[in-house]
Amino acid sequence: MQVIFAFNGDPEDYVRSDAHLKVCRPKACPNCRKSRTLRALGYYSRWVSSSARRKTTLVSIRRFRCHACRLSTSMLPDFAQPYRLVATDTVEQYLGGSKCGEAVAAWADLLEVYQRRFDERLPWTTSVLSSSYGLVELPQAAVEVWCEICGYFGGARCLTLRLAGDVGVTVFGIYQCHHPAGRLPVHTTGVFPYGRAPPTLPHGHDNDLGTSPWLRSSATSVATTASSGEDTQM
Ligand SMILES: [Zn+2]
Repeated sequence: MQVIFAFNGDPEDYVRSDAHLKVCRPKACPNCRKSRTLRALGYYSRWVSSSARRKTTLVSIRRFRCHACRLSTSMLPDFAQPYRLVATDTVEQYLGGSKCGEAVAAWADLLEVYQRRFDERLPWTTSVLSSSYGLVELPQAAVEVWCEICGYFGGARCLTLRLAGDVGVTVFGIYQCHHPAGRLPVHTTGVFPYGRAPPTLPHGHDNDLGTSPWLRSSATSVATTASSGEDTQM
């Protein structure tokens, strides 16, 4: 399973402040819903694009395992999109119609692919927004829909977090890791398995850590069995 949590900062802040050491465990397992069953399971590493230039940052993603159902849960900070390299803030700018800016220009090739994916899934996405959030009569144009739903949820980070947490989807697809085992939605047109982490690229960092209810104030008694690349399934 994957839980997206609000992080007040960018990937560089996350790395510089060792925020991965402070991520709190969910009170209940997102798969079996049992309380206090999650135990530390180390980390996996993945890359996420930076807000400046074509630069990437390697971030450690906290993982827990449920001792009841045995499935692992990873905690993805909301600056990152599930299974996509380009950071959520940059995606927000691009899908909102901004084709300039350092990061947007640097990642234009990937963002074009994201745009196509968003456009292809738009009818299905608007249907989910209507049935799950009562958002009806959305505009026709993709860019207008994007701006309206980002406005409604309070930005692309919150949009992604809510869609994945409430309905188990993103604007780019449906992933098994957002659905308890055996409970995938029957109306899906494309369900993706728990995917690989984005490709390995160089990285760098800057800036300050904000506050998040998912982060502890100090990093103590945390298991640090680091692994890289893929997470275990769901
Ligand atoms: Zn469980």
